[in-house]
Amino acid sequence: MKYFDKNTWVYLDGEFVKANSTPVDLFGQSLHYGYSAIEGIRAYNTHNGTRLFKAEQHYERLRFSCERTGILFRWEIDELVEKTYQLLEQNNLRNAYVRPMVITGHNMYLTPAVEATMVILAWEWGPFLGTDLIRATLSPYQRPNPWSLPPDVKISGQYVASILATTEAIKRGFDEAILLDQEGFVAQASSNNLFIEKDAKLFTPTLGHIFPGITRQTALEIAKALNIEAEEKRLSPEDLLTADSAFLTGTATGIVGIAAIDDTVFPQEWADTLGATIQRAYKNLTLEKENYQVII
Ligand code: PMP
Repeated sequence: MKYFDKNTWVYLDGEFVKANSTPVDLFGQSLHYGYSAIEGIRAYNTHNGTRLFKAEQHYERLRFSCERTGILFRWEIDELVEKTYQLLEQNNLRNAYVRPMVITGHNMYLTPAVEATMVILAWEWGPFLGTDLIRATLSPYQRPNPWSLPPDVKISGQYVASILATTEAIKRGFDEAILLDQEGFVAQASSNNLFIEKDAKLFTPTLGHIFPGITRQTALEIAKALNIEAEEKRLSPEDLLTADSAFLTGTATGIVGIAAIDDTVFPQEWADTLGATIQRAYKNLTLEKENYQVII
């Protein structure tokens, strides 16, 4: 199917321009339907130089997101990692966020992508939610139903739901939205996973309705290394509101503590929480410190 040729005009922001002259693909499924797969990877300035944290795992997840949604993935992971390091060097970036995207090509039908392009962007970015404790609210928005969109893919279109939830939370004076799944269990924040601490044990919602965050998995691994008991379990809003403390995990965010959910302030001092311990170990791990699990 041909959508335009060199004689085709489109209207763009007040002007008529040639369809083939625009810097973005105006006929792409990515733009029309949010049909592109994305990732988020962090680069840290470590004593071993600039290091991407778990880059292979992120690119494997990108491949999975594509394969699960019918987007062609024809790249080698090793080469993508290598190109990402080159991109950071060319932009002189040390502490950075990297956004790989697989963009789909011209196709106005609701059918699998006929073409796919790999784009990798990188920019300097501090922790997504800052470093202070945040205030969160239980959102009136829910996580997307797993039967409408697979919960374990990172596809651009799903982030409109995250934008709506965050916007609504910020409007009411909060930093972040906590979303329930369609069965009423606590799922996660708009773009971060959630942990709670209760009676010196960590709990995080089970996979199924949540996005399987790499930071969530890392936090579970750190807990194991530190002999901290952690359990994946379906959590009710009541479980969340009666927790001793809570925190969020995500690549862009790192690990950030939650001071309160709506009017419910968590009773434990953040510095004394298991979350704070995991936060310190995570920082050491991303900075490739030896014996990251030794917390002093
Ligand atoms: N949930 C959603 C919806 C996300 O977009 C992200 C960030 N990719 C996360 C959770 C956290 O995942 P990760 O730890 O792999 O960054």
